[in-house]
Amino acid sequence: MAVVGQRHSRHTMALQGASVPLPSQHAILTAAVGVPYYEVVPPQDVQPDRPIGYGAFGVVWSVTDPRDGKRVALKKMPSVFQNIVSSKRVYRELRMLCYFIHENVLSALDILQPPHIDYFQEVYVLCELMQSDLHKIVVSPQPLTTDHVKVFLYQILRGLKYLHSARVIHRDIKPGNLLVNSNCVLKICDFGLARIEEPDESIHMTQEVVTQYYRAPEILMGAKHYDSSIDIWSVGCIFAELLSRRILFQAQSPIQQLDLIIELLGTPSCSDMQTACEGAKSHVIQQPHRPPSLAALYTLSSQATHESVHLLCRMLIFDPKKRITAADALAHPFLDEGRLRYHSCMCRCCRTIGGVRHYTHDFEPVCHQPFSYTFEDDLTSVSKVKEKLHKFILEKQKGNRVPLCLNPNSVSFKSFAKEYVVRSNINDFIVTLGFVVAIVQIVHVIKISSISFLYVCCEIWDNTIFQYYRGNVD
Ligand SMILES: [Zn+2]
Repeated sequence: MAVVGQRHSRHTMALQGASVPLPSQHAILTAAVGVPYYEVVPPQDVQPDRPIGYGAFGVVWSVTDPRDGKRVALKKMPSVFQNIVSSKRVYRELRMLCYFIHENVLSALDILQPPHIDYFQEVYVLCELMQSDLHKIVVSPQPLTTDHVKVFLYQILRGLKYLHSARVIHRDIKPGNLLVNSNCVLKICDFGLARIEEPDESIHMTQEVVTQYYRAPEILMGAKHYDSSIDIWSVGCIFAELLSRRILFQAQSPIQQLDLIIELLGTPSCSDMQTACEGAKSHVIQQPHRPPSLAALYTLSSQATHESVHLLCRMLIFDPKKRITAADALAHPFLDEGRLRYHSCMCRCCRTIGGVRHYTHDFEPVCHQPFSYTFEDDLTSVSKVKEKLHKFILEKQKGNRVPLCLNPNSVSFKSFAKEYVVRSNINDFIVTLGFVVAIVQIVHVIKISSISFLYVCCEIWDNTIFQYYRGNVD
């Protein structure tokens, strides 16, 4: 079991002479050691702390904040200091979570107090609790009207406009990373693969990004450099998925993924494939020439109108330079009703006073200061990252709020640790299975074509170990 803090005594939790109850044996959050007193607020509901999600990097729980009784999401980032890449990635993600302030982008409400640096192994972040995500909604039987699609798409693009203005590329936009609460407010989450845009096109960027179904064609074709337009491609795929409630390009391998895209958009021209690697270009050129079949987008759903298909076609463009930006997409007429609905009753930027709605002057704000990497400049070893991260968290806790830590004696904490182990074993099994499938695929591909062999091998490699080595990205 990880060291997360010391057991509390009645003495540490009470003012002199005051009688304050011990933290509940079921509550996973409690005030940190050294806090003389804090008011215990009865929870707003009686739900026990429980797990609500598992990501590639950890576990998320729904817990009660003892300071105000509100339900919040507790994210555990485990094994932070295994190597320099994973520790820098967690540090970067934490900096981003603390930097972003936008209604459609998840941000950190608080970070739990870390133990002494000698015992510092894990990071725990508190975020706003979101009950669901777009993936769960798409696969559920609940109806998705055109109004839902418009307001969801509006919020995705609104959040992305903000992130892109901060020069941040998310690099893993997919329905599961778009959290939704019971009021249909949407927030972009999981910045584990995010990075800032690289203006120097000679610098190579990793291709091990974006879940395959939502991966832009330039990445599938081995582009060494790309920009925020890869996120817009993902949004196009999600837009189509919201309309049809089916994954738009659901392929078994990256090569098949590319083939499905070409089936819809037609064979790309040479200028559309400028950033592609030679193997990928050869693969496309050798295939019979295909005309575009965009009319198929009208069959996605009875809700697919000229307006929606027009916007969709502006996102699903092969050449990233011709793809629409988040800011321009927000100006498309298809999103006018989504904007109106969002700011009429869902947002926090507009106010209703005396029955009159007062709208904000800026419906889709940008981030005025780009996110900066300068904090990573001297992070040359795991111990340096550890030291900086520890200091960063302690500085973040210098506000007025009582710092929190985990209560390792709670029943919830015990199940929390146990469930994580189980999940890890399942992941290991899936990765092993992936390697076996990869070997079978390679043997199969050798029989079919030797020309694209190297390219295909690279893609299979990428596909199978992407999740396993997800931390090894720039
Ligand atoms: Zn508003």
